[in-house]
Amino acid sequence: AANRKFHPEDTIVDVGGVKIGGGHFAVMAGPCSVESKEQVLEIARAVKASGANLLRGGAFKPRTSPYSFQGMGNEGIEILLEAKKETGLPIVSEIMDIEDLPFFEEVDMLQVGARNMQNFAMLKKLGQIDKPILLKRGLSATYEEWIMSAEYIMAGGNKNVILCERGIRTFETGIRNVLDITAVPYLREKTHLPIIVDPSHASGMWEMVEPLSIAATAIGADGLLIEVHNDPERALCDGPQSLKPEKFEHLMQEINKIKTVM
Ligand code: PEP
Ligand code: MN
Repeated sequence: AANRKFHPEDTIVDVGGVKIGGGHFAVMAGPCSVESKEQVLEIARAVKASGANLLRGGAFKPRTSPYSFQGMGNEGIEILLEAKKETGLPIVSEIMDIEDLPFFEEVDMLQVGARNMQNFAMLKKLGQIDKPILLKRGLSATYEEWIMSAEYIMAGGNKNVILCERGIRTFETGIRNVLDITAVPYLREKTHLPIIVDPSHASGMWEMVEPLSIAATAIGADGLLIEVHNDPERALCDGPQSLKPEKFEHLMQEINKIKTVM
């Protein structure tokens, strides 16, 4: 169970050799979507040089409009695997349909996006494998609903679940979502699962990503998920919230300062 009452010690999830949770902090960075091999390799090299621990990138994209770019699919996964081979960074990518599972064979961690947090049929299937699962909080999910979704995966036997706070819907319209920073200490007490923060989707604005990352790190998150793009103005998805590599480099320096005093 996800409840700390039945499992007092922190769960440490091993993602392709990178430990997350129980004092192990990890940064996953990369583009919202895989757009080309050149794009992914350029970003992967840059984020690795700045100290990122994992490479993220979406190949199957849950877009609000069916007319928006839907992702490169399996071809996108192949590109991520090439970047993994070159940089050694484990990769994380979103799965939208359990039928696609065979494509994810060599992907180190599967992301369940906010929009699929309560896709119970898929959660049950993901409980039957042992790959780490990054479970994002639903757009308007309560802590209890989110924990129950983790429980769906764990009930099947897969204990490798990481929770990701990515902002919630409120009455505020000035930003994309509102980062619920309270989720970190609250879930720390309720569950033994690692909890990371995604300030990119939480704010929707690149200017907010560094200050929110600092807050998330200071409050004790087990890691960060940051969107980075080499050419945000021309990104096919989530350009406005994507950091250029040099801004990501700066963010990593700020995070490292906090980690050394913590
Ligand atoms: C993403 O990580 O690119 C994504 C679609 O996130 P979310 O499900 O949190 O909106
Ligand atoms: Mn995105």
